[in-house]
Amino acid sequence: MTEPQQQYNTGPGNVDPAEIAKFDELASRWWDPHSEFKPLHEINPLRVNYIDERAPLAGKKVLDVGCGGGILCEALAKRGAHVTGIDLAEAPLGVAQLHSLESGVNVEYRQITVEDLAAEQPGEYDIVTCLEMLEHVPDPGSVVQACQRLLRPGGQLFVSTINRNPKSFLFAIIGAEYVLQLLPKGTHSWRKFIRPSEMTRFFREAQLQVHDVTGLTYNPITKRYRLGRDVDVNYFMHASKRGGVADD
Ligand code: SAH
Repeated sequence: MTEPQQQYNTGPGNVDPAEIAKFDELASRWWDPHSEFKPLHEINPLRVNYIDERAPLAGKKVLDVGCGGGILCEALAKRGAHVTGIDLAEAPLGVAQLHSLESGVNVEYRQITVEDLAAEQPGEYDIVTCLEMLEHVPDPGSVVQACQRLLRPGGQLFVSTINRNPKSFLFAIIGAEYVLQLLPKGTHSWRKFIRPSEMTRFFREAQLQVHDVTGLTYNPITKRYRLGRDVDVNYFMHASKRGGVADD
C-alpha cells in the first residue's frame, strides 16, 4: 500500500487520492444549488423516486456509499429511512454533518472504505446506494462486492454511473464540462466510465440479480433531466442479493 492511500484509511487501497482531493476542495459549495453540484441537486428527486418506487424506503436501514456532502442521504432520510453515509473525503463529510445538524434530518456519517465497513457490518443493510461514485474508484468491482456483503439476504442495491462510448465522451465530458459548463473541467475521466455490460458483470460476479437498468438524460434546451430507456450516457442499475424475503 502506498503512502497517500494509507492517509485515507483505504483498507485494500481501492481509492484514487486525486479524486478525493478534488471533492475535498469543492466541499464548501456542496449544498449551493447553483454551484458545481447543481446537477446532483437537480437529479436528486428523480433518483430518490427511482429508489423509493423499487424499494420502499420508510423504516429501512440504508447505507449510502460515496455520500459526499449528503444530498442523497438527507433525501432518503426524509422518506423515513435510517441512513448511514460513508465517504473517504473529509471535507464533504464535515459539510454533510453540519448540514444534517442545521436541517434536523438525522443521518450518521463515517469516514471509512466500503470494503472495511463490509468486514465490520456484513448483512446489516436493507438497501445500499452508490450513486455517481463508481466512476471515481480504481476498482469498481470491489466496491460492488463490498456493497453485496453489506446487504442482508434479499436486500436491494442501487448504483448510478456513466456509460463509456463516443456519445458519452461528447455529452458527459465535452458537453457537460466544456460547452454547457455544468461541471468543472476534469470532474470525470472518460476511461473510468463503466458500460452497463461491465456493471452487469460486476453484479453477476457478486451474485447479485439485476432487475432494472434505466437511463438518465439531460435536455439542454429545456434544462430538464428525465429517466428513460436511453442508457448511452448516465444510467441507474437496480439489483438484489439472493435469498431472504424481498419486500417489493
Ligand atoms: N453519491 C453522492 C456524491 C457523488 S460525488 C451523490 O450522488 O450525491 C462522488 C463522491 O465519491 C465524492 O464524495 C468522493 O469523495 C467519493 N469517493 C470517491 N472515491 C471514493 C472511494 N474510493 N471511497 C469512498 N468514496 C469515494
